[in-house]
Formats: sequence, structure tokens, C-alpha cells
Amino acid sequence: LASSNSKKLLELEQMLSSKQVEFVPQSKFSITDAVEDGSTFVENALIKARHASKFSGLPALADDSGLEVDALKGAPGIYSARYANMQGDGNSSDDANNALLLARMTGLPSSKRKARFKCAIVLVRTYDDPEPLICEGVWEGRILVNPAGTNGFGYDPLFFVPGQCCSSAELEPEVKNSISHRGQALKELLARWPDLS
Ligand code: IMP
Repeated sequence: LASSNSKKLLELEQMLSSKQVEFVPQSKFSITDAVEDGSTFVENALIKARHASKFSGLPALADDSGLEVDALKGAPGIYSARYANMQGDGNSSDDANNALLLARMTGLPSSKRKARFKCAIVLVRTYDDPEPLICEGVWEGRILVNPAGTNGFGYDPLFFVPGQCCSSAELEPEVKNSISHRGQALKELLARWPDLS
């Protein structure tokens, strides 16, 4: 699993638990994060999966995901993890990212707060796999004015899910996993799972 985000890893592991495969986070092989210099979620997921496979010598699965807000012209998008640290190196904290998002949306009415989570999941059998398996998911919602809930991670407390009438951070993990961008992409992945032998 090509990620160092412990909460994202937890969601991936929960949703992949039905598979008769042992999933190991890349940290177990002392693999550090890849440089994510792609311009789309799919490109970055591919970069991360190839990187983890190269240094582990094993098949690798990566998730690249983020939040797109219409009123911010699609930001933070692929920069979601480091939104509050765009000038520096590395990711910013969830709290800092959420505070900046709220500040940039101050005063916008509910009708102008449309947003979506997007997720690209990539599975490569080898680092140079010519046919990576690519699955995507999109989850529509809107940005709240105040955070709500303590489950999940990242922007979950600010993401209102219309069908559930609560924030993503107020959903039970099983419910979030069954409808989220990541859940959708993983459902497709499990249906199209390739022979890894
Ligand atoms: P990545 O690890 O580079 O793909 O960054 C993903 C970032 O997008 C996370 O750090 C979060 O800020 C945000 N994100 C992705 N998926 C979710 C989610 O399910 N809930 C909340 N935030 C998410």
C-alpha cells in the first residue's frame, strides 16, 4: 500500500479485508513517499504505485485523492494534503487545511458551496507494469460553514453529504466506505482484480 497517511491506510485496509491478500504499508519496507509531481489524481496515484513497487519488488496499490470546490475553481484539488503549506515542503495538518478552506469561503451562501471528493486508485503488478489497473470514484457534497463530527480524516468534518444529511465525519466508517469516492473506486477495483501471480 503506497501511502503514509495512517487514516487513509485504515480505510483502504477495512475495504480490502475481504481479499485473500496480505496488504502491507510501504513504511514496513522503509519506503519513503514518492514525489507527486503529476497534474491529475490518476497521474499521482500511478507515480506512487510505481515507486512503491520499484522499492518493494511487489505489486503495489496507491490512492490519490482530494477535494474540489467549485467556488475555488477546483482547489485544493491535487494539492489537498498540502493546501495550507503551498510554499513549503510537505503536507500541512488537517486543521490548518480546514481553517484555510473555511477562510477562503467566508460569506459564500449554501448555493455556492458545491464540492466533491475524487479518488484514483491504481494497482500495478510490477513497477513497469504496462497495463496498470486504474479505478476512480467521485463523491458530491458541499462545504459546511462550521466543522461537524470527529470520524474520518482530512476535510471530512467540512464535507456535507446531502443523502445522509450530515457531514462525512459524522458517518460511521462502514457507511462512509460504502458511498465515498474511495469506496466507489475500491468497489470497481475488487470487481476487476487482476491475477497477481
Ligand atoms: P494524498 O494522500 O496525496 O492523496 O492526499 C489526499 C488528501 O485529500 C488528504 O490529505 C485529505 O486532505 C484529502 N482527502 C482525501 N480523501 C479524503 C477523505 O476521504 N476525507 C477527507 N479528506 C480526504
